Amino acid sequence: MSEKTTSAVTANSLLPTYARYPIALVKGEGSWLWDDQGKRYLDFMSGIAVTNLGHAPRKIKEALVKQLDELWHVSNLFHIPNQEEAARLLTDNSSGDAVFFCNSGAEANEAAIKLARKYQQKIKGNGRYEIITFENSFHGRTLATLTATGQEKVKEGFAPLPEGFRYIPYNDIEALEAAISDKTAAVMLELVQAEGGIYPADPAFVHALCKLCRKHGILLIIDEIQTGMGRTGKLFAYEHYGIEPDIFTLAKGLGSGFPVGAAVCKEELREAFGPGSHGSTFGGTPIATAVVKATLETIVGDRLSERAEEKGDYLTSQLKAQLAGNPFVNDIRGKGLLVGIECAAPIAGLLTAAQDKGLLVISAGPNVIRLLPNLLVTNEEIDQAVSILAELLAGAGDNK
Ligand SMILES: *Cc1c(COP(=O)(O)O)cnc(C)c1O
Repeated sequence: MSEKTTSAVTANSLLPTYARYPIALVKGEGSWLWDDQGKRYLDFMSGIAVTNLGHAPRKIKEALVKQLDELWHVSNLFHIPNQEEAARLLTDNSSGDAVFFCNSGAEANEAAIKLARKYQQKIKGNGRYEIITFENSFHGRTLATLTATGQEKVKEGFAPLPEGFRYIPYNDIEALEAAISDKTAAVMLELVQAEGGIYPADPAFVHALCKLCRKHGILLIIDEIQTGMGRTGKLFAYEHYGIEPDIFTLAKGLGSGFPVGAAVCKEELREAFGPGSHGSTFGGTPIATAVVKATLETIVGDRLSERAEEKGDYLTSQLKAQLAGNPFVNDIRGKGLLVGIECAAPIAGLLTAAQDKGLLVISAGPNVIRLLPNLLVTNEEIDQAVSILAELLAGAGDNK
């Protein structure tokens, strides 16, 4: 018989899919988190762009608690008023016309891939199936979405992978032209490659890509799972480019911490997802969509996208000022409150050093520190985070 231990920081009954830090966070409020030892942390990762309104935001909690008193779950075989209202809010505030709700980012992209294929094959009758995606992208962990992801490390050991995906370099329009064939159903991309290292798409590339898609009848899928919900300074990142995707996907910030995802599409695609074509038991429950409604009303009503742009400008300018001339810092880039500090060497040690100083940040690839504060972050909190980072990065090159 093995002896059981009960410490907050052992995870032996879990599969070891995550290399966890030895910290157990047990309480959150606004930009702050507390661990089970009572230590306080300034949260500049927001659960990876999830808690965009900070921890335990009052209005969202009220909407959630109200719904918990009324009804938790009913089947999608019935009308769900919250779901219809949440969808209406999404379509009123975007270029999309119809919504499918699911529970995660990977599921939203899975729905987008299926919808694109179904549209081409059933509505257009052309048998197209291939999805072109980009090197260094990230689209999720289900079999189809890890196949769509342009990074080998997420695919190792999972063969055979689904067919019909091909990868080209990001921001390379000639490569796209060369990759297009009579099998191409859709092109799928992030407008800032987030997990891949905070690389924004070049506007000229995006415009040329849109033109090529229109010319060849190829659908444009934008993965807004990390960039959406105000994060980049617009409600959706595609607004920066003046484009309208055929399909875009959401999750992370959509539920302020409640798990929910969505695929949003143009009117022409509606009929491709007729009754029985796709589904999800938990997709768009009364609870999840009460939270989506409250989240969207707050972000739109309180103009938090504009706030994210303003705070993002402040964060980036403070970082540039404080880190100017630091030989360990190669680049500072991003959009709104999705910011990366590219360093000259791996930064894993810096992340734990920041934790010791009470600041939570994450990486985006081995050399990039990723900053994702909530959209309500204050200048004082930004100053605190920047000063901790400046202190850590000041001597960072020395011991490497
Ligand atoms: C996080 C993320 C996903 C996957 O979302 P999950 O909810 O983890 O399935 C997909 N695409 C992008 C751009 C992401 O950042």
